[in-house]
Amino acid sequence: AVLSSASATLGWDQETVMPPAAAALRAEQLSALSALAHERRVSPRLAELLEACEGDAALAADPVAAANLREIRRDYDLATRLPTSLVREFAEVSSRAMEAWKDARERDDFASFAPWLERVLELNRAKAECYGVPAGGEPYDALLDEYEPGMTSAQVQRVFGALRARLAPLIADIAASATRPDARLATLRVPAAAQEKLNRRILETIGFDFRAGRLDVSTHPFCESPGPGDTRMTTRYSEEAFLDSLVSSLHEAGHGMYEQGLPKAEAFGQPIAQATSLGIHESQSRMWENMVGRSRPFWEWALPLARDTFGGVLDGTTADEVFGFLNTVEPGLTRVEADEATYNLHIMLRFDLERGMLHGDLPVRDLPGAWNERMRQDLGVEVPDDRRGCLQDIHWSMGAVGYFPTYTLGNAYAAQFWEALRAQLPDLDAQVARGEFGALLGWLRENVHRHGGRYRAPELCERITGRPLSPEPLLAYLEGKLRPLYGI
Ligand code: ZN
Repeated sequence: AVLSSASATLGWDQETVMPPAAAALRAEQLSALSALAHERRVSPRLAELLEACEGDAALAADPVAAANLREIRRDYDLATRLPTSLVREFAEVSSRAMEAWKDARERDDFASFAPWLERVLELNRAKAECYGVPAGGEPYDALLDEYEPGMTSAQVQRVFGALRARLAPLIADIAASATRPDARLATLRVPAAAQEKLNRRILETIGFDFRAGRLDVSTHPFCESPGPGDTRMTTRYSEEAFLDSLVSSLHEAGHGMYEQGLPKAEAFGQPIAQATSLGIHESQSRMWENMVGRSRPFWEWALPLARDTFGGVLDGTTADEVFGFLNTVEPGLTRVEADEATYNLHIMLRFDLERGMLHGDLPVRDLPGAWNERMRQDLGVEVPDDRRGCLQDIHWSMGAVGYFPTYTLGNAYAAQFWEALRAQLPDLDAQVARGEFGALLGWLRENVHRHGGRYRAPELCERITGRPLSPEPLLAYLEGKLRPLYGI
C-alpha cells in the first residue's frame, strides 16, 4: 500500500506540476515502484499466509477480517492468474495501440487502428480465459468483474435495457418540445481566479477537507488519494465556460469526499479501507455533481455566493435560469460533453458494441457502421466522421474492455441512494437551499463511505436501499426533473 501510494503521489505530480522534460525519469520511477509492488502482490509467502488465514475459523467468523481476506484473495488471484508473458504483451500492445489510436483519430482513419483493436480484443479474450468465466456467464463477465466486482453482464443488461427503453423516448420528446433553456449564461466571461475562489468556498462548505486535500489544475480533471490525510483533486478553468469548472469540481469533490470518508486512518492498506468499486466511486461524484450541483435548491444558495465572488457579471441572473442552463439536454456526438440524460445512451452503445466485438458477433471492420447506426437510432444524431464517432474514446486503445458500464452503473447507484436518503432526510431541499450539507454528507459517511470495501457493490446497494440495483430511481429522477423543465 505504501509503494502504491508513492506511485499515486508521483502520478499526481506528473499531471499537475512536473516539468515535461522529466517524463522519461518519471516513467522509470513508476515502473520501478510498480515492479516492487507487484513482487509483493504475487509473493509465495503471501499465498501461504492467505491459506493459513482462510483455514482459521475465528477469522471467518469476524466480518471485517472475512471481508479483508475475500478481497486480498481476489487481488492475489487477479495478479497471479495472468502469465507474465501475457502481462508483458498486454502492456506493449496497449501502449502501441494508444499511439496508433491518437494518430488514427487525428487523421480520421479507422482502418489504421482496426488491426490494433483486433489485437487488444484478442488479448482481452485471453485475459478473460485466464481469469475464468463464471458458470452460466460469458467472457465479458470476467473483464467486467475486474472493474465492478460482483456485477455480471446479465445484470447490467437488465438495468440498461429498461433504461434505454424509456430514455430514448424521453430524449426524443425533449428534442421535439418547443422549450429551450436560455443560453445567455454561455456568453458570460469570468476570470479563472474568481472561479477558483468560488470553487474553494463551495467545496469547503459541502464538506471537502482542505487540511487533508488539495485542488489544483490539470488538463483532464481527476481525483487521486494516495492515503490517509492526502486526497488531491484537479479541475481546469476556461473564462467562457465558467460553470464547467464548478460542476467538474463538484464531481471530483464527490470522489474526494468518498476517499476522505473511507476508514484509512485505522485500516490503511487493508481492502476494507478502499473503495468497493468504480461504479460506487462514480455514484458519489455523480450525486454531488448532478443531484446536488444541478438542482434548483443548490443554486438558491450558490447564486448569491457566485454573485458576491464574481462581481457584477451575474447581476440579473436567477437561480431558475442557472438551473435551466445546467440541465440543457442536447443530443450530441461526444460522450464527455453529453448531458446527464443522453450520457447514458452513449455508455449503453459502447457496452453493447464492445461485448459484440469481444464475443466475435461484431467484426471490428463493421464497428463504424454499427456505431453510426446506433447513434442515429438512440440519439437522432448523424455521425459525420469516425474521429467524432467510434474513435473518440481512449479506453479500448488502452486495453480497457468492460470499463464503460461503470459510468452508467454509477448514475444508477447514485439515483437509488439519492431516493433512499431523501426519504430519510425529508428536509433536504431546504437544507441545501440554506447551504447546509452536514446531514447529507453524514448520511453518505454512515451508509456508504465508512464501509469501504467491506461489501461488494450489489450487496451494499441492497443493504442501503432494501433492493437490488434498479433502473427505476434514475428514470424517475431524470423524468421528474426534465419533463417539467421542458414542459412535457
Ligand atoms: Zn468520476
